[in-house]
Amino acid sequence: MKRIFTVIGLGRFGFYVAKTLAELGAEVIAVDVDENKVKQISEIVTHAYVADALDEKALEEAGVFNADTAIVSIGQNVEASIFVVVILKEKGVKEIVAKAINQLHGKVLERLGVARVVYPEMETAIKLAHSLLLKGLIEEIPFAPGYSIFEIKTPENFHGKSLKELDLRKRYDITVLAVKKPDGKIVVNPSGDYVLDKEDTLLVLGNKEKMVEFVENE
Ligand code: ADP
Repeated sequence: MKRIFTVIGLGRFGFYVAKTLAELGAEVIAVDVDENKVKQISEIVTHAYVADALDEKALEEAGVFNADTAIVSIGQNVEASIFVVVILKEKGVKEIVAKAINQLHGKVLERLGVARVVYPEMETAIKLAHSLLLKGLIEEIPFAPGYSIFEIKTPENFHGKSLKELDLRKRYDITVLAVKKPDGKIVVNPSGDYVLDKEDTLLVLGNKEKMVEFVENE
């Protein structure tokens, strides 16, 4: 059985979540109170309905409660965002992801049992700032407060040096988890004797501030 998603609120964020899920083959029920938004997505997703998130009956008719995962992407209308999360919970929708416009909104959503609260603008802004500061950064996965896993190109000064020689753990509190060779081969948990090649891509775990320091110093 295909997983069913519902996206409630087709603003800048919700629209692209619904579009991407549908393009990757998922079944998507998209809902918005704005007829134009619904029209725009109707050709892309499985079902698209004009419905107010404050109208339980309309949501029922749209089949929203049959979803395995609901993405609540109503931002500015906080009241509607909270109300629909409460109904989705009551109706037993297993997984709820919701967008928050500020910390208070996010806290309320968490208290209501939302599995994952996203802050799209803040998250994108932080990622952008990191990518501007961290030359060679390919991908960042936030791991714990202050810490991330970074996929990064080998800094120039490291070419031809062994991990033991670089002593990254002591100098920068950075752990190299894996190295990807240009041919796609992966060296997991490389030993101290591993010598970095200029074409290597590194997967490292580290503190963000230390990471910036490390890239700037090298
Ligand atoms: P974004 O920043 O992602 O554009 P917005 O909060 O501005 O987020 O827009 C969210 C979307 O949610 C809009 O398309 C809006 O029409 C829709 N929306 C707002 N209130 C309701 C509601 N009560 N029911 C359904 N959709 C709503």
